[in-house]
Amino acid sequence: METLHDLGEFGFIERFAKQIHIGRDVVKGIGDDTAVIDVGGKDYLLLTTDMLVEGTHFLRTMMSPQEIGRKALACSISDIAAMGGDPTYAVVSLGAPSNISAQLIEGIGEGINILAKEFGISVVGGDTVQNSRIIINVALLGKVRKDEVVYRKGAKRGDIIFVTGALGDSFKSRKHLYFKPCVAQAHFLIRHAQPTAMMDISDGLAGDLGHILRQSKVGALLKEAKIPLAKGATLQQALHDGEDFELLFTVRPADADTIRRTKRFRFYEIGTIVSGNSLMMLFKNGQKRKVEMTGFEHF
Ligand code: ADP
Ligand code: MG
Repeated sequence: METLHDLGEFGFIERFAKQIHIGRDVVKGIGDDTAVIDVGGKDYLLLTTDMLVEGTHFLRTMMSPQEIGRKALACSISDIAAMGGDPTYAVVSLGAPSNISAQLIEGIGEGINILAKEFGISVVGGDTVQNSRIIINVALLGKVRKDEVVYRKGAKRGDIIFVTGALGDSFKSRKHLYFKPCVAQAHFLIRHAQPTAMMDISDGLAGDLGHILRQSKVGALLKEAKIPLAKGATLQQALHDGEDFELLFTVRPADADTIRRTKRFRFYEIGTIVSGNSLMMLFKNGQKRKVEMTGFEHF
């Protein structure tokens, strides 16, 4: 019997994508950070969803209820930012055992609310079910101007690759709980140098850059010496570990200087888009080798 493990997370999504119906107003369905839908007017509608499951994504003993709530919404805001958009409306669904304390539920709500206020998001509904473990599912809408949307496809040979911050070991540092989704950075980028491709790093630099490379039909050359590592993090963690929630983007060579020179945000140049279809790395010891485009996988 073929199992989800045999297919892998992305194999499953690919198979599922072939099965389902999509209308002509869907500009981008499965395969980017959010769906992109044309509902008329000057903006596209963006839609994304994320699920946090107790025992898989968090343990009650390791995260406060506020932290669980905050993170549930933050992951989705990060995906809206990755398209160049603004988050707008959310629905929040909760599964929980009936003996759960009211205080815990309130705490989760508080965590969601703090971030919702900060980003101007209205929480307009949800669903509640009984379940043995806590599950939180956020579905978030956003909007982006039609001429500003940035996909994972679109990187061209010669483009320069940047990230918005240090990578690796986000669990130990607890960054995965407290990262601020990069909406402001995305806006800055679009205003000053329309990125050719962009996504948020949730499964490790190598795996996620792999998505940009495959969808853009290009390769990349990274420089080990330029990859910003979080304090105490290893290169392996930065490449293959999850949940940094920094933006990974490419810009045309003519736009790169603006990004390098700005004082408004810190952007880290890490490499170049090249022809081909592989991810290469120039290591500090002078060797140039292929890096597997694998990131964190759920199955
Ligand atoms: P991200 O890390 O940016 O949230 P994912 O890696 O979770 O993105 O998902 C990649 C793409 O696959 C997205 O377009 C997402 O909507 C889609 N996807 C993931 N799971 C499913 C599913 N069960 N059914 C349909 N699409 C899915
Ligand atoms: Mg994403």
